[in-house]
Amino acid sequence: MKNINLTRFFSAAAVAFTASRASAQLKVVATTPDLASIAREIGGNAVTVTALAKPSEDPHFVDAKPSHIVILNRADVLIEGGAELEIGWLPPLLESARNSKIAAGAPGRVVASSGVRMMEIPTSFDRSKGDVHSLGNPHFLADPLDAKIVAKNMADHFAQSDRKNAATYAANLAKFNSTLDAKTRQWSGTLAPFKGSKVVTYHKDFLYFANRFGLTIADELEPKPGIAPSPSHLARVIGTMKSQGVKVLLVQPYQNRKTAETVARRTGATVLEMPQQPGARSNTSTYFAMMDNLVNTVAAGLKK
Ligand SMILES: [Zn+2]
Repeated sequence: MKNINLTRFFSAAAVAFTASRASAQLKVVATTPDLASIAREIGGNAVTVTALAKPSEDPHFVDAKPSHIVILNRADVLIEGGAELEIGWLPPLLESARNSKIAAGAPGRVVASSGVRMMEIPTSFDRSKGDVHSLGNPHFLADPLDAKIVAKNMADHFAQSDRKNAATYAANLAKFNSTLDAKTRQWSGTLAPFKGSKVVTYHKDFLYFANRFGLTIADELEPKPGIAPSPSHLARVIGTMKSQGVKVLLVQPYQNRKTAETVARRTGATVLEMPQQPGARSNTSTYFAMMDNLVNTVAAGLKK
């Protein structure tokens, strides 16, 4: 009798142990795949990471789904880009999810933009005009030095939410930073011959990338961030591209390729597809692979 009870005790304990180990992983939710990829580097085996936006979606305009509410309800940590990147879709999801762990100001809420030197902060702003960059340009992750700030924010909050793995997060952060430093030297070397080269982009989403690697953005197809190109604006951009000899037009997979192709045909420029969300294409599965692809694609395009 005693043996049977002991057997039961041990098997129940084993089940409880397995369950606690499984649930011991910090459940991290990131709004976008780029944040999710960095979170996986920092969290390693101590976390599970889910991205809400698909790699094929514009981070400003994500299709909110009931499944997102369930994911947010169960999350230990939420990482958002910040600077109102997600203002069009995240607030109603959070309201429905009712999860105090990820409320604004809680240890489980990471605002990636904290500490990032924001570019293009508007001095006056009128949301009614449709401009989506209300608190400055939120596309800072295409600058690897900003990715280091974001990774540090994540490591700090992961450690606050999960103190027993604090050393793991600190070690993963150190490894991420050293890999990124080496990569940044390589990327800077690849793009060094193209310093000052002019590019045109669809949206204002390559500002930080261009600033880091010495490219000059001559214009954008959108008249304002988030506003579809108008024929009169496109005519002006075409004039700029012709007069300044701009050879490449950078687009992301979710932007209007047809419009970009039309402009390219009329200017002799090449359209370069440059996804900033890991997973949008097969060779961009992580943040590092995505950055490799951005650097190599623009270098090849400018070389022609
Ligand atoms: Zn934007």
